[in-house]
Amino acid sequence: MSEKMNVVAIVDERKAEVREVTRPKPLKNQVLIKIDGCALCTFEQRMFTRVAKVPLPFVGGHEFTGTIVELGEGVKAEEYPLGQRVAARLLNSCGHCYGCRHDEQNVCDHSSDVDMSQMDIMGMGGLAEYINADLSQVYFLNNDLPVEKACFAEPLACVLNSIEKGQIEIGDDVVVIGGGIMGQLHVMSAKLQGARVIMSEPDAARREIAKQLGADVCIDPTACDAVETVKELTGGNGAAAVFNTTAVSAVAQQAIGMVAKMGRVIMYSSQHPDKPIEVSPNWLHNSEAVITGAVSPSVRSFRRSCDALSKGIIDPTLLVSGSWDCHDAQAAFEAAIDPATFRCIVRF
Ligand SMILES: [Zn+2]
Ligand SMILES: [Zn+2]
Repeated sequence: MSEKMNVVAIVDERKAEVREVTRPKPLKNQVLIKIDGCALCTFEQRMFTRVAKVPLPFVGGHEFTGTIVELGEGVKAEEYPLGQRVAARLLNSCGHCYGCRHDEQNVCDHSSDVDMSQMDIMGMGGLAEYINADLSQVYFLNNDLPVEKACFAEPLACVLNSIEKGQIEIGDDVVVIGGGIMGQLHVMSAKLQGARVIMSEPDAARREIAKQLGADVCIDPTACDAVETVKELTGGNGAAAVFNTTAVSAVAQQAIGMVAKMGRVIMYSSQHPDKPIEVSPNWLHNSEAVITGAVSPSVRSFRRSCDALSKGIIDPTLLVSGSWDCHDAQAAFEAAIDPATFRCIVRF
């Protein structure tokens, strides 16, 4: 194998290109993964548009899949066979912080720490031909799973962590606010938990996709009072779980208005800008509702996600907007930031 490899780097505002860097070697208890595809998440899109400012050049990429091609010292070939299709939960778990000691590694204080010792360009490094991963970060996928579907291991894992916090029971009403990719994955997952799913989304095309993925009722929050409509649809009670997948604080406020007594509101999306909302302590006192958040994939939810994709329990095909060769990464990024697309995948 050559000592060099291609990566896709963001090099300027709205400019991405292939750069050649040193190919990493797997260290002790690591495997080297040959990446086949990496999706462009909102995180990478914010880097591309410079809404989020990081030093450039920057190699993003955390929603990838590939196959094991080389084993580091101490890794047994019977346990990590060459050619095995994998995804990786790239987040660091320090093992000693408050979150880690509660076995909730997704809130680890050091989750974003990246070992840059073998990287020429800053970043998580999934937009590359090769990446090293610790054994604890590697999850197996079915070898027959198409690359486009396998790229959903990480985003679906984020959603399944959120779904877990919703504590959905069969027969519950669930509201998913926002019909972007994360909202749509919530729709599919909540349906599997036995809920009646109400999707609130202003865009008609996205409402149509939600319908195809199992949403029972779709409402247009620009054409009705979304809170009142949810109340009407639920016999005046509100929903047992409300998932806000949008970055708009006014919508976060609506989410709280939609929840039933003892229900859960999950703030799934990060907020940009992060504008505070109002909550009545007395309402919380009387309703026993819970307002919480969901961040990153947990160790548990990553495993569930890989199982659900591998077994065909969740099929994200409708959410794939296209694949581009890494040399066309500029076009892939431009497509990804178009609000009309879902996931755009860069192939290596
Ligand atoms: Zn992501
Ligand atoms: Zn930690």
